[in-house]
Amino acid sequence: MEENLEFFKQVNINFDKAAKYIKADPGLLDYIKKNNATIHINFPLVRDNGTIEVIEGWRAQHSNHRKPCKGGIRYASIANQDEVKALAALMTYKCAIVDVPFGGAKGALRIDPKKYSVEELERITRRFTYELYSKDFIGPGIDVPAPDYGTGEREMSWILDTYQSLDLTSTDTLGCVTGKPITQGGIRGRREATGLGVVMGLYEACQDADLMKPLGLQVGLENKRVAIQGFGNVGYYSAFYCRQYGAKVVAIGEHDAVVVNENGIDVEALKAHQNETGSIKNAPNCKTLPNREDILYFDCDILIPAALENQIRMDNVEKVKTKIIAEAANGPLTSLASDYLLNKGVLIIPDVYINAGGVTVSYFEWVKNLSNVRFGRLDKRFQQRNFDNIINIISEMTGKRPPEDLIKKYTSQADEVSLVHSGLQDTMISSFQQIRDIQKCMEIKDMRTASFVCALQKVSRTYGELGIYP
Ligand code: NAD
Repeated sequence: MEENLEFFKQVNINFDKAAKYIKADPGLLDYIKKNNATIHINFPLVRDNGTIEVIEGWRAQHSNHRKPCKGGIRYASIANQDEVKALAALMTYKCAIVDVPFGGAKGALRIDPKKYSVEELERITRRFTYELYSKDFIGPGIDVPAPDYGTGEREMSWILDTYQSLDLTSTDTLGCVTGKPITQGGIRGRREATGLGVVMGLYEACQDADLMKPLGLQVGLENKRVAIQGFGNVGYYSAFYCRQYGAKVVAIGEHDAVVVNENGIDVEALKAHQNETGSIKNAPNCKTLPNREDILYFDCDILIPAALENQIRMDNVEKVKTKIIAEAANGPLTSLASDYLLNKGVLIIPDVYINAGGVTVSYFEWVKNLSNVRFGRLDKRFQQRNFDNIINIISEMTGKRPPEDLIKKYTSQADEVSLVHSGLQDTMISSFQQIRDIQKCMEIKDMRTASFVCALQKVSRTYGELGIYP
């Protein structure tokens, strides 16, 4: 039965639905669908107590139609080769949708990072980087990792440092990994990029009257009731920006509990509580529900799954009550569960579009690393002088200086984080419009198929332009 298919096959069901709309050689489409190369690695870790443990990992490069290929590295106890290949394929389609010129890749180690000391995690990450380097699976022009589930800036800085100790000749080594700390070539705005992109995409969907009307919802993100599964990087920033955009985050679920506050959860206070106690349980001003799955069945307008794949399946889909699902995680719905909800009229904003903010800003970081200059460095003062001149002219012509708060609001300078947020917003808006145009023009019922069509059009065109055929 389709429901029990492996993750990569689930991705390919979506591919096949979209391929019907693409005018391209079936052989080329078959090639695009396939995973180009995967390495499966085992290496030893000497644990702090002196014992030796074997660590298993993978890196999949789904597509090299653009170079480098790009995708996160995940540390999770359930990681496996099929999952890595599926996530790499999603990266290929995601990058194409948001016009980021990379192929798709993904890596994983089958470890639960909570069970290792920081020193052990450092040894694991450095050895994994060495294995990738020795097999030509990492490099600024080859394959560029980034954070994913269970990894963050700290792991990226270990990867960078190890890579730089191996590649002694290149001047581009900073671009071998993204999602780095700012002090080590990272970019302002990367940390929040995926969650912020989710909310920017949701904002666009909620502004679309044709999408909101059948749901019986008012146009606009403001005051919509939101439930979020997962309160890590993506979940936290999705919650944070939902509130900034005027939505009400009423429930948040983690691996050990769900917390609820119908008046809106103070997400920063909840994060502080989680950092302090190691859990979201018993957070101030929130009711705690013990069953972690309850978050998926919460009665809300918008559900944001931001944890792992395979969360909503045929065995639990009937309990889902939300009207909109924004797939911040990769593959949170099985293919059949997705069809079931679509038939019920639920709006599903697919992973390949809605969580693309991370790779978009990773692309900005990589460009910054290759050009070796911070965005805004060249034009910041120049812009400021121009603004000052305009204010002076207005003041002279009208005989009075405009109010200081207006000057501040309309003459903000092009610093790095503002440029990154504005580039991200432009990407999320223009990709949303492309997907909606395809949906309307080809009369495609769901946004997922339209998103895959958008990706396949671009990837097949690139192969054609490059003259590369299988
Ligand atoms: P993370 O490790 O920072 O956070 C994940 C959180 O989910 C953790 O706090 C974990 O405890 C929680 N969790 C695990 N199982 C759960 C369950 N059953 N119920 C509720 N919570 C659970 O990871 P992340 O970077 O936020 O990634 C989350 C998802 O977003 C993944 O699917 C990842 O592939 C996807 N994603 C991440 C990025 C990125 O930039 N980090 C980009 C695109 C997509």
